[in-house]
Amino acid sequence: MTTNPVVPEMPDTLALQAQDAAHYLHPFTDHTQLHSKGSRMIVRGDGIYLWDSEGKKILDGMSGLWCVNVGYGRSSIAQAVHKQMDVLPFYNSFFNTSNVPAVQLAAKLAELAPPGFQHVFYTGSGSEANDTNVRMVRRYWDLMGYPDRHVIISRRNAYHGSTMAGASLGGMSGMHEQGGLPIPGIVHIGQPHYFDDGVGMTPEDFGLRAAGWLEKKILEIGADKVGAFIGEPIQGAGGVVIPPDTYWPEIRRICRKYDVLLIADEVITGFGRLGRWFGSELFGIEPDLITFAKGVTSGYVPLGGVLVSDRVAKVVMDGGEFTHGFTYSGHPVACAAALENIRIIEEEKLVERVAEDTGPYLRQRFASLAAHPLVGVAETCGFVAGLNLVRGKAARLHDQLRFDPALGVGMVCRGHMFNNGMIMRAVGERMIVAPPLVMGRAQIDEMVALIRFCLDRTLEDVEARGWI
Ligand code: PMP
Repeated sequence: MTTNPVVPEMPDTLALQAQDAAHYLHPFTDHTQLHSKGSRMIVRGDGIYLWDSEGKKILDGMSGLWCVNVGYGRSSIAQAVHKQMDVLPFYNSFFNTSNVPAVQLAAKLAELAPPGFQHVFYTGSGSEANDTNVRMVRRYWDLMGYPDRHVIISRRNAYHGSTMAGASLGGMSGMHEQGGLPIPGIVHIGQPHYFDDGVGMTPEDFGLRAAGWLEKKILEIGADKVGAFIGEPIQGAGGVVIPPDTYWPEIRRICRKYDVLLIADEVITGFGRLGRWFGSELFGIEPDLITFAKGVTSGYVPLGGVLVSDRVAKVVMDGGEFTHGFTYSGHPVACAAALENIRIIEEEKLVERVAEDTGPYLRQRFASLAAHPLVGVAETCGFVAGLNLVRGKAARLHDQLRFDPALGVGMVCRGHMFNNGMIMRAVGERMIVAPPLVMGRAQIDEMVALIRFCLDRTLEDVEARGWI
């Protein structure tokens, strides 16, 4: 791998923290809490590691924000971006114009997408891509002569972005509470969360039951009013919720039965994360629309979009002007970065590696954490993994004793991870990772050893506080 040799000069951390506190409104952040400690300045990345402004090395188990699939410091992406900026830094695709990287990337995406996808609509982010889905689904049904089919069904605890439509599609109650969401025409059903909701059932039976909630909702609303169902193949921000194998085939069957469009939000699961180019292939989803972002450029520059199936694309293209688009749709620099990123994924066979080698190895090593006294379940799928912190173990999954969510045990654990050079995210009591796809076997060993060490520190801490 060619990595970037540039090592920046260390900045003045305290001065930067003061400026940060004075001027920077952070996303999804409690600023009182942030300012009590000050932001950690991340100054450099190389491979799977980051460095902060104090020179501390950190293993990035989250690939930034589920996006740096090819790892940090890829100078060939920097060079592709530099070259494109010199040649043509920007031009729009609105007025019968196009640009070389946008066209080449569209063709490449059509080649990589599941069968039946020949078109792409570009956006600047995953949120914008999901907004595009809402507008495109409604436009499609208008053109088909069914203007009433405008309701979109999503799931509780889903994450589909932060714009008005994205946050409405998402099923995060904390987001809905701020700003009067969801917007009209978006409703939610339960999620396929076996650990939380599958008490007394086999995973297979629970998968069918959770998919059945979709049919119930369609019948309740009236099939003639439902335009689409949207779901992440695996819920990422919701805590790496891996559905039972029976779930997606049944969802597909129900969508077909009622002619409801199926949208797979692959912002996290696309571009190799599950050992396939798209997670839809792994789960047999066969969607009509696929949301992508993050891994398409490995996060080096912002880019998102929707892969549009032939069924939908034909209607939308034959229907006159679709009055939707962004200044940065098909941004040449972002598309150039994506082309180089995809070239790297192909050259280094990262998708195959995750499927055949490092993914199974991660599964085996991560599963060993289930022996830890604090861990209830430890599971992986490709290169996402999650474990549940429990107060008491039991032979049967649903008999395990949970922590009171108000204690914030996950955040305590996350603190120990951070202090010991490991980034692992906490979603309630669920601890999750989604490492860069370049992570090798030795680095998986290193990560699992670090996690185990931090679980030990968490256990000591939890015992000292009398929580166990
Ligand atoms: N969909 C999913 C599944 C995501 O995980 C995210 C971001 N984490 C989004 C949409 C929104 O993407 P963005 O933050 O690029 O708008």
